[in-house]
Amino acid sequence: MKQPIIKASDHGLAGCHTCGKVSPVELGRCPRCGTQLHLRKPDSIESTIALMAAAAALYIPSHLLPVMTVVEIGVVTPSTIIGGMMTFWRSGAYPIALVIFAASILIPLLKIASLSWLCAAAGGWVHPSPAALGRIYWFTELLGRWSMIDIFVVGILVSLLQLGNYMAITPGPGALAFAGVVVLTMFAAMRFDPRLLWDRLDQMSAAAPPHPTIPES
Ligand SMILES: [Zn+2]
Repeated sequence: MKQPIIKASDHGLAGCHTCGKVSPVELGRCPRCGTQLHLRKPDSIESTIALMAAAAALYIPSHLLPVMTVVEIGVVTPSTIIGGMMTFWRSGAYPIALVIFAASILIPLLKIASLSWLCAAAGGWVHPSPAALGRIYWFTELLGRWSMIDIFVVGILVSLLQLGNYMAITPGPGALAFAGVVVLTMFAAMRFDPRLLWDRLDQMSAAAPPHPTIPES
C-alpha cells in the first residue's frame, strides 16, 4: 500500500518566498524577513491566465506594426520584426536572422503556449501523466532562463544598424507592443505557483486505485 506523501502544508507550515524559512502560516508574516506567508500564491492561476492573455493579444500587433523606422539617405522605411529578419536572411546574415526568429517569434510563442498549458494542468482542465508534466515544467523553466534574450536582440539590431553613418533609427509602435509581450510573460511566469501542479499530481495519485496495472489471474 502506497504511503500518502506528508506535506508541510498539511501541518499548516509554509516556506517564505523571500528567504525560504519554513514557519506556521498562521503567523501571517515570516519571523525572519517579514514577508507575507501563504501556502500557495493567492489567485495564481487566474492572474497568470490574465497576464498570458494580455501577452498573447499584444503578440499580434508586435509583429504587424513596424518595430522601427529606418531613415537612410532621406528614404523612410518602416520595418516589422519579420521584415527585419527577412532583410538579414536575404543579405546572407543567416545566424542573425535565426537569432531574431528564435528570440522574437519562437520563444515568446513557446512561453505563452507552455505556461497556458501548465495553467490548464494546475487547474485540472487537462490531465497529463506525471512524466509529461515534469518535462513541460522543465522546458518552461529552461525558456525562462533565456527570457532576456529578446532584449539582447533589440540591442544587437540597433548597434548593427547604427553603424551606418547615413542612417537614423526611431522605434515604432511594434517595439512598444513587443516590450509589452516580454514584460507580461515575465510577470505571468512570476505569478505562476508550480506547487499547484504537484498538488494536482498528489490529488490524482490519491484518487487512482492502488494497483491499477496488475491484471486478475
Ligand atoms: Zn522570510
